[in-house]
Amino acid sequence: EYILQNDKLLPKKDAMIHVDDRGYYFGDGIYEVVKVYEGKPFAMEQHLTRLVQSSHKLDIKLPYSEDQITEFIHTLIEKNTLKNGLVYFQVTRGVEPRNHLYSRESTPVFTAFTQPGHSTEDLQQNGIDVWLTDDIRWLRCDIKTINLLGNVLVKREAADHNCQEAILHRNGTITEGSSSNLFLVKDKVLYTHPATNLILNGITRQLIIELAQNNNYSVVEEPFPVEVLEHADEAFISSSSVEITPIKSVHGQLTTTFPIGPVTKDLQKKFKELLPRS
Ligand code: PMP
Repeated sequence: EYILQNDKLLPKKDAMIHVDDRGYYFGDGIYEVVKVYEGKPFAMEQHLTRLVQSSHKLDIKLPYSEDQITEFIHTLIEKNTLKNGLVYFQVTRGVEPRNHLYSRESTPVFTAFTQPGHSTEDLQQNGIDVWLTDDIRWLRCDIKTINLLGNVLVKREAADHNCQEAILHRNGTITEGSSSNLFLVKDKVLYTHPATNLILNGITRQLIIELAQNNNYSVVEEPFPVEVLEHADEAFISSSSVEITPIKSVHGQLTTTFPIGPVTKDLQKKFKELLPRS
């Protein structure tokens, strides 16, 4: 298994991380996860656009152009003969003696690896149980940073209650999942939190909104309270890894169940049609 470290392909066991990398001390870096179907990275351009946006928001200078990164990723996928799975890539601010203040002199460090896919078909068909809890994250959730403690803690909390995802609310307003966006369906209309500083604007979220609108569904991007979740007809999460995965039950601060409804199923089918096939 090979990984990329800057522009070098090397066996994973030979990769070395400097202890003074700011990614290690501060979680000072950004990342993307891209799903790979039939050896092809899906929605690569959109992911690179978001990486560039994250880099600007954090004042990190990307060491390579979008074209170079795309080329590196294709080479890595080929080298690892990855058919279906994902590719992870990150950029940390680089190596400097530990100091909160960064200098702008460090050279960012690029790392990428691939992971073979485990099937999410079962969850996509049968749905997941989710745990509703407080959104304890910072106020720049729009940045895809490797600093994910808030997300990590609520994911554990959900798992400890036999749930596969945590759904978060900030003072009673639903934001998103710990590693996914949330959509509700009520009377055939889709509802999701607007792309503000309080959520990560998922690439899958963006694709679903476009897909829904092209198929004559209305999409309302407005904040909504927990009570609206309680009275929804259907609910699902979205992400590159799980695509569209229905929610079958909610536990924790709210208890309710949802059927895997017609709108979710219709969007799942139409989303699959966007994906590269063998
Ligand atoms: N929100 C959060 C907090 C996430 O971590 C993710 C997945 N990385 C998403 C939403 C979904 O984003 P995408 O559709 O781009 O995978």
